[in-house]
Amino acid sequence: MSLQIDRENIAKLLEQAIEKKNIKAYYQPKYDAITNRITGAEALARWIDEDGGIVSPAQFIPLLEENGLITRLDWYMLDETCRFLRAGLDSGRHTVTVSVNFSRLHTSEKEIGRKIAQLVDGYGLPHRLIEIEITESALAVSGDIVIDFVRSIRDAGFEVSIDDFGSGLSSLNFIKDVPATVLKIDKSLLSGNCESEKERIVLESIFDFAHRLNLTTVAEGVETKEQLGFLRTCGCKSIQGFIFAKPMNEEDFSALLEHAGVNDPDSEDILLTQSAVSATQLLLDVIFKRFPLVIMSNLTRNSFYMMAYDNFTSKSCPSTGVYTELIQHGASTMHPEDRQLFSDTFDIGDQLAAYERGERVRTVVTRQLGDDGVYRKAETTNYYVKNPSADDVLAITLSRNID
Ligand code: C2E
Ligand code: MG
Ligand code: MG
Repeated sequence: MSLQIDRENIAKLLEQAIEKKNIKAYYQPKYDAITNRITGAEALARWIDEDGGIVSPAQFIPLLEENGLITRLDWYMLDETCRFLRAGLDSGRHTVTVSVNFSRLHTSEKEIGRKIAQLVDGYGLPHRLIEIEITESALAVSGDIVIDFVRSIRDAGFEVSIDDFGSGLSSLNFIKDVPATVLKIDKSLLSGNCESEKERIVLESIFDFAHRLNLTTVAEGVETKEQLGFLRTCGCKSIQGFIFAKPMNEEDFSALLEHAGVNDPDSEDILLTQSAVSATQLLLDVIFKRFPLVIMSNLTRNSFYMMAYDNFTSKSCPSTGVYTELIQHGASTMHPEDRQLFSDTFDIGDQLAAYERGERVRTVVTRQLGDDGVYRKAETTNYYVKNPSADDVLAITLSRNID
């Protein structure tokens, strides 16, 4: 690599490189984890030296950050990205959202959202085509400053992603307050092929956490089929990694977009690589097929939580509430001759006493009134377990019609 980045003259070199277009935006596509379709891309800076050699960001980004010049590069990259997207729209090509990296040094800029909008509007682009990536390490700047920064960009109609999540020490608690929309999981969390149980647990928990906060997830640095298989079962939304594509120049990316959606690596036996969460989900799907009504009740505390209520009866029931009220409601839907049996079988005091005597399962068949006014036999079974995190006795109810 013949490019010598002279620290003294870095500012001048950068200006020259920008002017001569020796710094280029390379695009690395992001793929939908399930359909393998291209859903977006990330713009990554490449400095082309006099011999046409490509200098990677690791060699110049830290220096530009040191000098505060990185913000100049970022604005240039955003501009290049907009130019590329505009040309794509003008030629009628399929276009996807492109994310641009913004250094943490931008957090001190005022009205960042308005400035980004001004640039993007100059190209007449819909704001949904631009996403701003901000590294997890930037979150360390200062809570309120980062939140205001992200809010300003979001208010201007752009998506914001937290990049390199898991590479630093940011607290999950803080992430919940940052109004970002995308969490990019760092490649350092994918060491190996996700074989280690502990590594899998960490990933499963991060994806669960992100999805419960309504964040879209992208896994970065995915290189192997095993990693891909496991990430799919964690519900990871998008994949960015060498398994699909490396960052590429504008021409190659345009050509790829022409045929978007055709890239499909060999399918993988998902059972071998899936997360425990997804295995449990499969199991639940099967249980719900046979038992449309599943209820978890805390007999000790007289409460219940209904997990599936798949048109078992149209009489609406709340999904959580007081157990004795649920039993009362259940009894009212039974044939008058069966009501007493139903109420007695699921009497809280009686069940708790039976549990103490060693009873672990209890089944009753009653006639229940359907929506069409016809009574059908319903079988209701309670399995009794101790709550692992407290001493409470729980009843897991599986219920189904048997004719
Ligand atoms: P990043 O934003 O996290 O970008 C992802 C990096 O991971 C890219 O490295 C990409 O080439 C690499 N990568 C993607 N998939 C794989 C994979 O499967 N395996 C491996 N080993 N690597 C993969 P790149 O292009 O070298 O960029 C490094 C970093 O430099 C970027 O990390 C970003 O933080 C920074 N950077 C690049 N361009 C810009 C820019 O325009 N502005 C700012 N502020 N930072 C930039
Ligand atoms: Mg990035
Ligand atoms: Mg990253």
